[in-house]
Amino acid sequence: MSQITQIKTLLSKKNLEAEELDFLLQSKANEAQLIFRKAAEIKQKYVGNYTYLRGLVELSNICGKNCYYCGIRKDNPQAERYNLTDETVVSAARFAHKMRYGSLVIQSGELTTKAFTRRITTLINKVHDATNKELGLTLSLGEQTEHVYRAWKEAGAERYLLRIESSNRDLYQSIHPNDEWHNFDRRLSALKRLQTLEYQTGTGVMIGLPGQTTLQLAEDLIFFREFDIDMVGMGPYIIHSQTPMADVQGLWPERDRFFMTLKMTALLRIIMKDINIAAATAMQAIDPAGREKALKCGANVLMPNITPPANRSNYKLYENKPCMDEMAEDCASCTEARISLAGDTIGYGQKGNSKHFYKRIDKQ
Ligand code: SAH
Ligand code: SF4
Repeated sequence: MSQITQIKTLLSKKNLEAEELDFLLQSKANEAQLIFRKAAEIKQKYVGNYTYLRGLVELSNICGKNCYYCGIRKDNPQAERYNLTDETVVSAARFAHKMRYGSLVIQSGELTTKAFTRRITTLINKVHDATNKELGLTLSLGEQTEHVYRAWKEAGAERYLLRIESSNRDLYQSIHPNDEWHNFDRRLSALKRLQTLEYQTGTGVMIGLPGQTTLQLAEDLIFFREFDIDMVGMGPYIIHSQTPMADVQGLWPERDRFFMTLKMTALLRIIMKDINIAAATAMQAIDPAGREKALKCGANVLMPNITPPANRSNYKLYENKPCMDEMAEDCASCTEARISLAGDTIGYGQKGNSKHFYKRIDKQ
């Protein structure tokens, strides 16, 4: 059987297994077009040709953790730390509301102090008060206790993003310090906690990590399906020179990490038809048109950065982060142009909730 026929046969199967996904992930440029086309068809059929916007506010780069890959890890003395005021966050939320972005994402380094967790509860209330509860609110603030997740949910956060980074326990441990704060089971339990509390639950992985194999990536896709996840954001791993992973040898070239991310996005759309998939900002760090390419391969969410430009450059998880000094207004018109290039309509003023979430909740 030719490779093209083999790919076509697999793409018409109902339930792809890890080895089959692994085979598909290894397809070269021409064959991959079949996967991309299939993903685009499924996107249109199940979630429509819409892109939903989530204004991204990077609340603070102060972090209590030390993930080996991340530029704002606690032990990077060169990271200039900042913490946005509530007023700044609220004015960013007002901006998102005025621009008719359907929702807001608040992301930050991970802190678990009472001062931090209580502040977030207050902030959620302030954001909702300022925007008539018309913005969907997503948090991405790391691992927290059940008590904290519950308090934030009750205050009005509906969605949460917590990437598993890799569903492979050994790979996960190899990119984190070996202590209780950076433990695979701890992260997995936090993700389960979010799902049990009925958050729209999002996760994701980095693609092209040192030593990562295509089979492990295929298993990540199976993990998303088995976990019954509502949203996924996954992007290429990008080196940050002030981290312990800066000198790792043998990484896939950036173009390959990028191409692999497109294939992961497309296959995820094929196996989980009605979830929300974000076109990760890290894709744009490699290719200026990276996020539009992801939208064409099945992604349906984009997160324009609305952090004040002065702070944006300090929220540097990785290098070559795009749009460092643009005003939020400029980002808005650029985003619109990019999305129409990808052939999508923007879901203005719509929260763009995960369709999968409602089906999952109904089934319970
Ligand atoms: N502190 C929170 C949220 C901020 S980090 C948390 O860790 O969950 C958000 C995501 O940035 C992480 O989940 C990780 O997947 C991604 N990230 C960090 N460093 C990166 C790098 N060097 N390249 C690509 N993605 C990175
Ligand atoms: Fe902190 Fe998140 Fe970076 Fe880890 S990935 S060091 S938790 S900001």
